[in-house]
Amino acid sequence: MLYQGNNLYLKRLESNILQLVFASAKGVNVYDSATLAELASAIQIIKQKNATGLIISSDCPAFIAGADITEFLAKFKQPEPVLKQWLAQICNEFNQLEDLPFPTVSAINGFAYGGGCETLLTTDYRIADQQASIGLPEVKLGIMPGFGGSVRLPRLIGLDNALEMILTGRAIDAKKALQLTLVDAVVSTDKLLLAAIDCIHRAASGDLDWQQKRAAKLQAVPIAGNERQMCLVTHQAKLASLPSQNHPAPHAALRCIEKSLDEKRAEALLNEHAYFSQLVQTPQATALVRVFLHDQAVKKKAKKAHNTGAVGDSILVCGAGIMGSGIAYQALTSGLNVTLFDSQISALKRAEEKIQIQLQKDFKMGRLKPARLTELLAKLAFRSDLNGLPQQDYVIEAIVEQKEAKQNLLKQIAPLVSKQGVLLSNTSSISIGELAQALPNPRQFCGLHFFNPVQKMPLVEIIKQDKATEKTLSKTHQLAKRLAKTPVEINDGAGFLVNRILFAYLNAVHQLFLEGASIEQVDLALSKQFGWPMGPCELLDIIGLDTAASVQSILTKAYPERMPETKINLFKLLSAQQRLGKKTAAGFYQYQADKHGVMQKRNDGYLQQLQNELNIKQQNFSSQQIIDRCLLPFIFEAVYCLQENLVSSVSEVEIAALYGLGFPAFRGGPICYLEQTGIATIINKANKLKPLSAAYQVPPKLTSMAVSQRSFFEEA
Ligand code: NAD
Repeated sequence: MLYQGNNLYLKRLESNILQLVFASAKGVNVYDSATLAELASAIQIIKQKNATGLIISSDCPAFIAGADITEFLAKFKQPEPVLKQWLAQICNEFNQLEDLPFPTVSAINGFAYGGGCETLLTTDYRIADQQASIGLPEVKLGIMPGFGGSVRLPRLIGLDNALEMILTGRAIDAKKALQLTLVDAVVSTDKLLLAAIDCIHRAASGDLDWQQKRAAKLQAVPIAGNERQMCLVTHQAKLASLPSQNHPAPHAALRCIEKSLDEKRAEALLNEHAYFSQLVQTPQATALVRVFLHDQAVKKKAKKAHNTGAVGDSILVCGAGIMGSGIAYQALTSGLNVTLFDSQISALKRAEEKIQIQLQKDFKMGRLKPARLTELLAKLAFRSDLNGLPQQDYVIEAIVEQKEAKQNLLKQIAPLVSKQGVLLSNTSSISIGELAQALPNPRQFCGLHFFNPVQKMPLVEIIKQDKATEKTLSKTHQLAKRLAKTPVEINDGAGFLVNRILFAYLNAVHQLFLEGASIEQVDLALSKQFGWPMGPCELLDIIGLDTAASVQSILTKAYPERMPETKINLFKLLSAQQRLGKKTAAGFYQYQADKHGVMQKRNDGYLQQLQNELNIKQQNFSSQQIIDRCLLPFIFEAVYCLQENLVSSVSEVEIAALYGLGFPAFRGGPICYLEQTGIATIINKANKLKPLSAAYQVPPKLTSMAVSQRSFFEEA
């Protein structure tokens, strides 16, 4: 052994070939400070050896996962010169690897992201196994490659391909990497080391011209004139949907790469340091890193929670409507045996058709092999009665949102739950505790709230009730994991977490309409300006105005001060006109299918007409006014949920808003937005809006945090 660290070691193989092996005891190689320091030590030893060549490899299931993101937030706070110094130091290590006086090869097993990808870019050759996945995902964290990736990748695979990878942050698989010449060969994992040794031998013997290969990597990017211009303009155009004020990272990466196209390595790296250290100062970078850390925290908590043994493979889904059919599809494609029950044959037929269409789509997209399709269809049964059905491991009800109907059904299906199984409700607003009252054995019962559309929305809320045992919750966590959903655990309460904060926001939107705001103003401010994936009117049309009115009234009952009844209720008025939203082709907007059958919205002026009939005078609001008026109640309700211990951590609040509602990730979640705007600023804004409604009254928890100048993230 030539060097032994805690995270990597260096040894000599046959024929004087050196092997630098990343081998973290944690099982995942990351570039934390300790690993970077060990790398520097190992490089000093490598430089002193008169070797035949160097192989960089990993003993872990993957090559190198990238930088240690848990160290980012502290790093981001450092002054720019300190950051630049840190980057220069690491890039200097990487340059030394690239400049070794003998050929070098990366043997890449599994994924190599960020710093991992930047490591393999320093070597002369790259051999990957078939499972390899290589990428520079930094823009997803609001930053850009900082260890030389923006310099080396365009020189290796060309400007167009490099921009595609860096600006989207998308990883590519081994096959694609070979096609792009990002790797030189793909072999099976067991042949990886042998292939790397062979490559060194061929390079050392002159069979492969490693010096020429290396020299090309150190030149300017070989693209000029019109071709260069076209390439840059095309990638700039691709960023049109990501305005730079909200998504600075890909724009900065593009500018940086463009600036360095004709530069040598040293100059180009200086540019990278400059752009990188500016990006880390942006609120978006902090927000996106926080999102990553919240995601990890929530998943870690969920993992701890599902500590029971296997439950089983059978699931009965009751109610074959929008949600039931979605849950059935998700369960089926996750390997469960599914029985879908509905009292209406027509509903079962519609559900069957919907599931078939979805499976055929998966098949056409290559996500499903023909044999698997047949296998899945054999695991799906439809029933309009429950007679003779054997006990099931999971039983979930997703029937109409009516307490009595749900209680009756739950009583009927409770005996169908196996001894080790769980009984679940997908209700979006009825108290789980009240539903439990109908059951003789509520110990096996809790809520599992999915979001629409089930296959797309990554969140589920697990709702506790007093009688549910830890085992029941744990098994529900296990089911969530099997269905590839991220769970947050919530105490019972009206609207749970997601609908409660959502309706605080939608009520504020409603109030703006009563004061004469227009659909365009409101939707534009909250989507284009604030960054929600769609404006609230479009969202309400998807939820359905009837559903919105009924959830709203449940929340009004629970929180009459902050979400009071209004004299005029537009959701109810629109419902009464059968303008229920997308499902009736009209709501706030009118919908018409285009030539591809996709429903397109248009404003037919109905809301304005309604406002005129109700003598509501049209009024202009600035985008910032609209954002403040709608976001403050949303944030405050999230703070109330923390204050009341409805949910136990800030991470869960943020993830619920991001994954359940599509809150813009670059804003980090409602609490991150609150802190980035400044608690004092938000309180100031709220004090001005207070006369409008109790929804703008500052929650006591927030006042006390302002007084003691604490941050929610200290508590997280
Ligand atoms: P839906 O109206 O589309 O479907 C309900 C189905 O239940 C219908 O097919 C109906 O025939 C069937 N049904 C009614 N009573 C029944 C009974 N006693 N036995 C068997 N079948 C019965 O409703 P949905 O939108 O799928 O909502 C279902 C549940 O999911 C509700 O509790 C709702 O609050 C909740 N939810 C809905 C959404 C959403 O966006 N639609 C999101 C999250 C949760």
